[in-house]
Amino acid sequence: MAKVLIIGAGGVGNVVAKKCAQNSDVFTEIVLASRTKSKCDDIAGEVKKLYGINIKTAGVDADNVPELAALLKAEKPFMVINVALPYQDLTIMDACLEAEVHYLDTANYEPKDEAHFEYSWQWAYQDKFREKGLMAVLGCGFDPGVTNIFCAYAQKHFYDSIKTIDILDCNAGDHGHPFATNFNPEINIREVTQVVRHWEKGKWVETPPILNEDCVHFPFDYPEAGVKESYLLYHEEMESLVNNIKGLERIRFWMTFSENYINHLKVLDNIGMTRIDEVQFEGQKIIPLQFLKALLPDPGTLGTNYTGKAVIGCVFNGEKAGENLRKYIYNVCDHAECYEEVQAQAVSYTTGVPAMIGAMMMVKGIWKGEGVYNVEQLDPDKFMDELNRCGLPWQVVDFEGELPA
Ligand code: NDP
Repeated sequence: MAKVLIIGAGGVGNVVAKKCAQNSDVFTEIVLASRTKSKCDDIAGEVKKLYGINIKTAGVDADNVPELAALLKAEKPFMVINVALPYQDLTIMDACLEAEVHYLDTANYEPKDEAHFEYSWQWAYQDKFREKGLMAVLGCGFDPGVTNIFCAYAQKHFYDSIKTIDILDCNAGDHGHPFATNFNPEINIREVTQVVRHWEKGKWVETPPILNEDCVHFPFDYPEAGVKESYLLYHEEMESLVNNIKGLERIRFWMTFSENYINHLKVLDNIGMTRIDEVQFEGQKIIPLQFLKALLPDPGTLGTNYTGKAVIGCVFNGEKAGENLRKYIYNVCDHAECYEEVQAQAVSYTTGVPAMIGAMMMVKGIWKGEGVYNVEQLDPDKFMDELNRCGLPWQVVDFEGELPA
């Protein structure tokens, strides 16, 4: 059907490449490009061994628009799947515009020198993509991504109006390391040390970061994983969902953290290792968080001995035909099963599979449009079917549990 070019050969890039190869009737040609070409070659070697499919590889600096645009013009893919880092979103979008190629990513743009992520930078590309007749799909991993799709599905099939959404993200896995992050450490730590925000009655409400004694948390009983302490956190999908889910009065995002993780992070934070400004060290400038990243385990290698489940879903409260209705849509993903299938842990898997499915929706013309879209603006039905087929089956149940008021 179409040629796709994947950018980024980390934990998520590995999953996207293998899942595209598993669907070679849709992705008839696959190119994997990243900063370090040898990482692409390693993945291509595994894909050849597992599925007998040839993947072309390339080294590219995605911060460099002319270099990337030249690669896109030479390869002429139908679309780019961007699973490099959020820092590259805008340069990759610029290169896509120049080479006239559709675009999809899994995380919104973040400037390197500011731990601040929001969609405004990418939404500003609306007219540029529209004028070129191109489609850009933003945030098509799990959260953002599948969580937005769950919201669109609930809105379409279960509710006249959704009043509250609570997104609950639990990683109950054990990787055996004293401290590690499940995706890029720099991005992960910038995200979880931020001031927390949730949206209520038309405005953003701030609460203390998760490392603060006064942060907001509660125990939630996750399917299959059991009771886990869940912390209020700001997460990017809320920014678009408040615009696109009609009648919404409140949206919150919760993530589980173990006491061990929080204690490690508190110490690192207290001693300045999570700083993102430059400091002088032995005659050169270094950024402490980047140095810390170099010391921590590579998230792409965590899968080897990872056991346990990741459980992510959304609890909805709203109305249908005048009746109050509470629903919970969720997926349970097993770390060891992911490793057996694609040599990745569940966090990379739950991000890479939806990115591949989103690309499939675009290649098949099920998702069609000109401009920039968040995934809840697109039809969820076929995407939900593909989740079941491609390794991320979901459940929908009436919600009987308790949430903080
Ligand atoms: P990794 O750090 O494992 O991989 C990132 C890859 O991008 C590496 O191969 C890296 O190359 C490459 N890269 C970095 N800079 C450049 C550049 N300038 N040019 C070309 N390639 C570059 O990250 P993950 O795989 O864990 O995460 C990938 C993306 O997925 C991130 O944006 C992350 O935020 C997002 N994500 C989204 C989730 C969701 O649910 N929506 C959940 C988890 C992650 P090199 O090897 O040379 O460093």
